[in-house]
Amino acid sequence: MEKNLYFDYAALVIEIILVGCLLVRKMTNGKLNQVYIFLSTMAIFTCTSDIIAVCYDRSGGEFIVEKMVFHSIYLMLRAFTSFFCLNYIIILTDTWFKASNGIVRKIWLFLPVGLVVVMMLLNFFTHSIFYISDTGEYTRGSWFIMLYIINGYYVLYCLHRVISNWKMLTIPKVVSIIVATLLMGGAAVFQFLVPDVLIDMFANATGLLFLFMMVQRPEELTDSDTGLIKFSAYDNDITRSFKNKKPETIIMIKVINYKVIREMLGYRDSVMVKKIVADEMLRTVKQKGVNADIYYTESGNFRIKLEGKSRDKAKDIAEYLNDKYKEPIRYHEMQLNLVVCVCITKIPDDIDNMDAMVALGQDLKNRYTGNVLYASNVSTKSRYSIMRDIDIILEDAITEDRFEVYYQPIYSIKDNRFTSAEALLRLYTKKYGFVSPDIFIPAAEKNGMIHRIGQIVMEKVCEFIGSEEYDGLGLDYIEVNLSPAQCMEDDLASNMFSIMKKNKVLPDQVNLEITETAAGDIQNTIVENITTMHNAGISFSLDDFGTGYSNMTRIASLPFCIIKIDKTLARIDESNPNMVIVLENIIKMIKALKMKIVVEGVETKELADKFRELECEYIQGYYYSKPLPKDEFIKFIRANQVVNVTAE
Ligand code: C2E
Ligand code: MG
Ligand code: MG
Repeated sequence: MEKNLYFDYAALVIEIILVGCLLVRKMTNGKLNQVYIFLSTMAIFTCTSDIIAVCYDRSGGEFIVEKMVFHSIYLMLRAFTSFFCLNYIIILTDTWFKASNGIVRKIWLFLPVGLVVVMMLLNFFTHSIFYISDTGEYTRGSWFIMLYIINGYYVLYCLHRVISNWKMLTIPKVVSIIVATLLMGGAAVFQFLVPDVLIDMFANATGLLFLFMMVQRPEELTDSDTGLIKFSAYDNDITRSFKNKKPETIIMIKVINYKVIREMLGYRDSVMVKKIVADEMLRTVKQKGVNADIYYTESGNFRIKLEGKSRDKAKDIAEYLNDKYKEPIRYHEMQLNLVVCVCITKIPDDIDNMDAMVALGQDLKNRYTGNVLYASNVSTKSRYSIMRDIDIILEDAITEDRFEVYYQPIYSIKDNRFTSAEALLRLYTKKYGFVSPDIFIPAAEKNGMIHRIGQIVMEKVCEFIGSEEYDGLGLDYIEVNLSPAQCMEDDLASNMFSIMKKNKVLPDQVNLEITETAAGDIQNTIVENITTMHNAGISFSLDDFGTGYSNMTRIASLPFCIIKIDKTLARIDESNPNMVIVLENIIKMIKALKMKIVVEGVETKELADKFRELECEYIQGYYYSKPLPKDEFIKFIRANQVVNVTAE
């Protein structure tokens, strides 16, 4: 019977479509995608070599060498297919380190496929696998069965790996892989028994297709907890929309108290809450009759993407959800209240780049009002453009030395004069004017430039302290902000010392401010840095006290001499007597720890008087002065120090 190639042609079509789809959808990142593409591409070559070999077979007694070569290529690639299927499963279960650990395991993995290569090469001389008879006919040799035994070995190995690692996968994935493996293995057995029906390649292609639909795409891109699309896909989709300048409306939904809920309920139950939030979105979108993509972008953040005519419904959907999420959720015996911020963003009108989009998402927790927000009102477009260009802005500012240090005087109540100042960095750009440190400091922390910037600030401050104009100002020290990332530099202390030494600055002329978040972190480097510098005589302040969740035991164990009460805590609201009690007791506690207090952000005489009554040591704020450029600061201090004014 002549071999029928129809199955091979069908297989080839399927495989070409598969590889085409993968490439068009840019599913080329990640090991799993790469092995999958490799498998599919190899399937195309295997199938093609089979077709060519069979076509040569039809030529009778001619092309003996060609027949030998193409049959050999086909059989070798066929063996490789089962070997790479095994690799695919190993990568899928993320167990490569286990499967290749030790010489014995490596032998189990590689030896059989190596044997195939050796046998196929030897076959040119021994003809033990197959040979081409004198009449030009392809004939199986006595060792041919070895290829099928090795194939069967890999099929069993695949099944073993899937079953023993089933916990790493979801049940549908496990079932799909078993089905695909049995399909491929079964077809091979069939073809061994019925050599003229070329079903093997078709089964291979079907198996790959099955994996593509069940394993590759959905699981890669779907958040298994909510069933929504994952952040990675969101990132891809939105970046593509920015590139194409495609008008879309994104409803950003942030569960602000998600972290608290997660800590309170534990992981499993918090997943249920996430699911409830997600289901509400799915229901609403369906009910409003719009076609939308809904994403879960981690940490209690959701995004609804609307395009075309659906965009007109954005306000309606956002407001409906905003109201809906205010209703308490009944869960087990509890009533949970979510704090959800909903914001409508039009792209590219409001925002035209992914960095700004992410920054807005992070900023939402500070913008919560209870009403639906509009990105166009939350921030100006120039702020978003700054966020987009921030890396270049910072790089230019460093190379062109455009950072300037301003100084904000700090008033000592006891001494009745300004005894210190805080160094605050300023950046002026031609294009955007002043760029706020609230934008550029976090950005520099993210892109790593904070280390260079921190050094620039320290150099400028020490230059000032070491200068003649600083003498006679009557200042005890200058406070310099250290970012959490700087606190983790292992050469921080030695860098600081060398800058100080160069400018002849004494350790007690500098005070370093560390934020509550950095101080609460349990990194050894932070403790080592603080201890080394403290032992050398540098004093430390705890900045922004009252903004984070302080680990008080830990803070008390670090050698802070000053606690800076943050402006948000310092805005005493007399209508809330409990808050006043909290503040009074915090002050008492700090005093009991023998630390001094700087109250930040004091803007009025009333507040300054209040903190004087509460016996705080220092006051910093617009009431006395805004941060000033160095020359103005010098003038300010000279003018005020002489007459000892208290700015009343
Ligand atoms: P911070 O260290 O808490 O600095 C105090 C901030 O409060 C400053 O904002 C200051 O201008 C502002 N401020 C002072 N008095 C008042 C007031 O009466 N009312 C109000 N509303 N605000 C007041 P600025 O200069 O925008 O700096 C923001 C933050 O950026 C700083 O907060 C600090 O965390 C960071 N930063 C600034 N310069 C540096 C630096 O050189 N290095 C590092 N790592 N961070 C810096
Ligand atoms: Mg500070
Ligand atoms: Mg502060």
